[in-house]
Amino acid sequence: MSYPDKITKTIKEFRYFSPKTVSEVVSILAKDAEAVVLAGGTDVVPMMKQREIAPESVVNIKNIPKLAYIREDREGLKIGALTTISMLVESDIIKQKYLALYEAAAGFGTWEVRNMATIGGNICQSLPSGDTFPPLLAFGAEVKLVGLKGERRVPIEKFCTGPGTNVLDRELLVEVILPKQNGKYGSAYDKKKRSSVDLAKASCAVNVTVRDGKCEDIKVAMGALADKLVRARTVEEALKGKALSDEVIEAAAQKVTNDISPRTSVRSTAWYRTEVSKVLVRRMIKLAAERCSKV
Ligand SMILES: Cc1cc2nc3c(=O)[nH]c(=O)nc-3n(C[C@H](O)[C@H](O)[C@H](O)COP(=O)(O)OP(=O)(O)OC[C@H]3O[C@@H](n4cnc5c(N)ncnc54)[C@H](O)[C@@H]3O)c2cc1C
Repeated sequence: MSYPDKITKTIKEFRYFSPKTVSEVVSILAKDAEAVVLAGGTDVVPMMKQREIAPESVVNIKNIPKLAYIREDREGLKIGALTTISMLVESDIIKQKYLALYEAAAGFGTWEVRNMATIGGNICQSLPSGDTFPPLLAFGAEVKLVGLKGERRVPIEKFCTGPGTNVLDRELLVEVILPKQNGKYGSAYDKKKRSSVDLAKASCAVNVTVRDGKCEDIKVAMGALADKLVRARTVEEALKGKALSDEVIEAAAQKVTNDISPRTSVRSTAWYRTEVSKVLVRRMIKLAAERCSKV
């Protein structure tokens, strides 16, 4: 009996590193430009099995003990790169203060995947359908990268350069920083997908601040529609300074077509993505606004 080539392929031999500190990782990456970082492995291992990648060196970072944490300080919320998606779901701070990120984590893959997959891996895989991206953008998050030249911070909006590509230059992502949220704010996230366990074909996160009954600030982030994550700035501008009535929200949501250029791909058509974006944007703004009144 013959099997398709993909199934019979075995993982090619590789050098394996298991450093205990960030500086050890950095020096390995500095010596070997092709070395692949392994965190939860939920993207890396299937890609190696299917020979989409065949790295000479694999750097397992799971044994660096201090990179899995969620803590608050004066600046906001700090999430270590090795924090798993399950840890996000179980965090009271995230559920209470960063609800859109909780919703993205709760709807992520399966229980097994959530236990292995890390927030750092989701960001560094850099797929436009990555569930953590829209909420991180809506909260104005930054990522901290460490390399041979030292440390730098990059806004999440500028991290990805295309589907599967990013600004990492032999660096390790060590932390995600979400600024402190002030005043009366509310957030929400949802995605449309083909089946219960699938990547998004369209996703949307909203974070809105209301003062004196009017929208003071809002960020609307759209994922999975095109090569990169998009801010729906036309929608945001249509809402700033206004009371968020159903009519105002509906009219603003229709404007999302000015901000997006959806593609047709294996998961969905450009037409569906355009139509469902209007619905997602309307629903997420409404939900986020309702949540403001409960703060
Ligand atoms: C069955 C299944 C269901 C899934 N469902 C979803 C879903 O619903 N939503 C979703 O968004 N994704 C989903 N995924 C994709 C995957 O689980 C996520 O992208 C996950 O967050 C990747 O994290 P990881 O720790 O497993 O990364 P890994 O596979 O270890 O790494 C992913 C990439 O990031 C790099 N990397 C990892 N950590 C770092 C770091 N700290 N610094 C620098 N580079 C790093 C690796 O080198 C690699 O290129 C699914 C995958 C599977 C197999």
